[in-house]
Amino acid sequence: MRYIEPHGHMVSRTTDDYEKMVLAGCAAVCEPAFWAGFDRSGVEGFYDYFCQLTDYEPKRAARFGLPHYCWLCINPKESEDVLLAAGVLEIIPQFMDRPNVLGIGEIGLNKNTRNEIQILERHIDLAARHDQLILVHTPHLEDKFKGTRLILDALQADKRINPGRVIIDHCEEHTIEMVLDAGFWAGITLYPESKTTPARAVDMYELYGQQNIWLNSACDWGKSDPLAVPKTALEMRRRGHSTETIDKLIFQNPARFMSQNPRFQLK
Ligand SMILES: [Zn+2]
Repeated sequence: MRYIEPHGHMVSRTTDDYEKMVLAGCAAVCEPAFWAGFDRSGVEGFYDYFCQLTDYEPKRAARFGLPHYCWLCINPKESEDVLLAAGVLEIIPQFMDRPNVLGIGEIGLNKNTRNEIQILERHIDLAARHDQLILVHTPHLEDKFKGTRLILDALQADKRINPGRVIIDHCEEHTIEMVLDAGFWAGITLYPESKTTPARAVDMYELYGQQNIWLNSACDWGKSDPLAVPKTALEMRRRGHSTETIDKLIFQNPARFMSQNPRFQLK
C-alpha cells in the first residue's frame, strides 16, 4: 500500500510516528499551519513556528526518506486577534519561497466571527496575489454548515480564485456536496472521536468518490491517529474496493491536487 498524508500536524507527533507512517506506506506528508494547542503571545511565536515547519520538520521526516511539505498562515482561532493576525500576514511572504511550502493554509473559520472573516479574506487576497494553492479549515459541529457556506462565499467573491486550486477540508455528510458542486476539492478528516470515522468516510466516498476528494488524519495534539488513512484503506478493502480504487483515493488524488504546485515531488 502507498498513501499520502495530506494534512498532518507533525510538530505534535513523535519521531516514532514518522517511522510508523513510513512503514505503513506513507510517501509524503503535508503539514498545514494551525493552532499549537495554546495561543502564541506574539508574531515572534509564529516566526519560530514557520521556521519549524520549513526547516526542522522536513529534516526530521528526511531521516525516514519521507518528503515533508507545509502550508503557511495564521489559523482561524488565533485570527480573532486582528492586530496579531496582521503582523503574522506581514511575515508570511518571507517564508513562501522555502522549498517545502505548498501554499496558504489552513485558513478558514473557527467560530464564524467578523474578525475571523476579515482575516480569511486577507489570506485569500495574499494567496491570489502570490498565485498560491489554498487549504481551508472548516469549523466544528454546529458551526460547520454555516461556516462552510461563509467560506465558499468569501472564496467565490474573489474572481482571481480558481476553485480547482482550493481544498476545503474537514467536510462531513452535510457539507461535502456544496463544496464539490462549487468546483472545490473536498477533504475528509478521520478522527477517533469527533469528525469522521473510517466507516463514515468510506460511505461518503461511495456516494461522491469519483470526484476530487482526499482523506487525512489531521494527527494533531488531540486524540488522533497518524495511521487513520491506511486503516481506512483496510476498511475499503474489507468492503471489496479494488486496489486501484483505493490507490486513487489515498495516493493519486492528493498527489494530483498538490502537484499543481511544481515543488511537490514524490521520490
Ligand atoms: Zn489541521
